[in-house]
Amino acid sequence: MSHGSASLRSRPSHIFMHKPKVSAGTRRKLEQAAAKVMKNAHAPYSKFRVGAAVLLSNGKIFTGCNVENASYGMTNCAERTAIFSAVAELGPKIEIEAVALTNDHGVACSPCGACRQVIYEFGPDATIFFLGKQGPKQAHITELLPEGFRLQ
Ligand SMILES: [Zn+2]
Repeated sequence: MSHGSASLRSRPSHIFMHKPKVSAGTRRKLEQAAAKVMKNAHAPYSKFRVGAAVLLSNGKIFTGCNVENASYGMTNCAERTAIFSAVAELGPKIEIEAVALTNDHGVACSPCGACRQVIYEFGPDATIFFLGKQGPKQAHITELLPEGFRLQ
């Protein structure tokens, strides 16, 4: 359930952003990158492909797709695949500015709880773009994960 009464929803969404930092052009670029990598998903069990593109504060974009396994619990989400790729290439001192998600069913799909915590670890001020129940949506990571924590 999204938080927001009818009166809240009628207001421009930017009022609820902490700060507008990702341009419409950058958002499009991220969504296109996510849609492209989505095609590489290994999703023979769910038949639900997901793509994610992560924008770092240094301007670099990393992408990832969901990778399922015959042992279902070993499945890795697109968001974590992208973030782990970024860490593997650049090390742990990355700062996530934004994450865009796409799926091949065109249905509402926000990051799962596990991915929200992983996004928070590297992006406590990140903006997430995804398809919500009412259509394209953006949310601050702390809206999706109100009590995220870091140990440092
Ligand atoms: Zn996830």
